[in-house]
Amino acid sequence: MTFKLAEQSHRRFNPLANEWVLVSPRRTERPWQGAIEAVSGNQLPKYDPTCYLCPGNQRVGGARNPAYDSTFIFENDFAALKPDAPVGCVDLHGKGLLVAESERGICRVMCFSPRHDLTLSSMSLDEIETVVRMWIAQSQELAAFPGISHVQIFENRGAMMGASNPHPHCQIWATSSVPEVPARELRSQVGYHDAYGSCMLCDYTALEQAEKERVVCGNDGFVALVPFWAVWPFELLVCARRHFANFSDFSADEVTQLSAMLKQIVFTYDSLFSVPFPYSMGFHQAPGKGAPHPKWHFHAHFYPPLLRSASIRKFMVGFEMLGTPQRDITPEFAAEKLRSVAEMRR
Ligand SMILES: [Zn+2]
Ligand SMILES: [Zn+2]
Ligand SMILES: [Zn+2]
Repeated sequence: MTFKLAEQSHRRFNPLANEWVLVSPRRTERPWQGAIEAVSGNQLPKYDPTCYLCPGNQRVGGARNPAYDSTFIFENDFAALKPDAPVGCVDLHGKGLLVAESERGICRVMCFSPRHDLTLSSMSLDEIETVVRMWIAQSQELAAFPGISHVQIFENRGAMMGASNPHPHCQIWATSSVPEVPARELRSQVGYHDAYGSCMLCDYTALEQAEKERVVCGNDGFVALVPFWAVWPFELLVCARRHFANFSDFSADEVTQLSAMLKQIVFTYDSLFSVPFPYSMGFHQAPGKGAPHPKWHFHAHFYPPLLRSASIRKFMVGFEMLGTPQRDITPEFAAEKLRSVAEMRR
C-alpha cells in the first residue's frame, strides 16, 4: 500500500516552529453544523467621524489625531507594555514553580492611510511603499532603544481576528525579551544551519520553487507559498529570495517588491471568497540585540481563519487545544485555490 498525502490522514513536521501538524484531507466531507458567521459586505466611508484612527478625530485616551495625509504613528493609548516599568524577577519559594520577570516595551499603532475605507489591496503601490519604508524606519528606531531585544510588526484584520477597527493599521511592539515564536524560530534556524551548513529558509524556498505545487505567487524579491506544514487553511509564508535578516537590510527594489507582494496577497485573499479576508499577519526579522543573527532569514506569516467560505471559519479547539493542531484541506489544495485567483490578476 502506498502512502498518499492527498488522501490519507498524516502528520507533517514544521521545522521552523519545531512542532507537528495533523492533516486530515477528507474531513471537510463531513456535514457541517457549526457557526455561520455573518458576512459584513458594508461599503465603508472614506472618513468616519466615530473612528479613533481617522485624521482629526479624538482618541478614547483624550489625544487628538493630527490631520495626517500619509502614514501616522502614535504610542498605543492602552499599551500592554511600558518602557519604564521597574525591572526584576522572582522565583517565589525557589522551586521554579512561581516564576515571573518584568517585561518592558513600547507599543505603537501605525495607520497605513488617512482613508478609512482602504486596505493593502486597494491602496496604490506608492502608498504601500511609504508604509514599508516606515516599517524599516520604525524597526531601526525601536531596536536602538536601550533594553529592546525584538521588534514585532503585525496586522490584525477583521472582527473575526479581534480587530476593533476597520481603518487600515498595524501595531508595532518592541519588547525587552525575545517573544516565544521568534525565539523558537531562531533556535530552529541555528540548529538547521549547524546540521546542514546552509540557511533553512533559503533551502526551503529553493525547494518549493522547484516543486511549484505550493507556490502561490512571487516576484524578483519575494515568494508567497502555502508551507508544507501550514496549520491555518489558507496560511501563507512569504520569504525573501535574497538571504538577509532585517527590515534594515532592504534594498530600494525590495521595498517595491514587498509592496507589490502584499497588494497581490491581500487582493488574492479578498477575491477567494469575495469578502474582506480576515487575517493576522506579521513580519519575522532577527532579534535586534546581542550577537548578530546571520542565520536568520527574513519572512512574513499570514494566518487567516476562513475555511470553506466567507462564513465558515476554522476553530482551534478540542484535539487542537489538547493534542496537536490539525487541518482539513491539504496545503497543496489551498495553494491551488489561491494560485487560480492570484493568476487572474496578472
Ligand atoms: Zn478611520
Ligand atoms: Zn536564507
Ligand atoms: Zn516566522
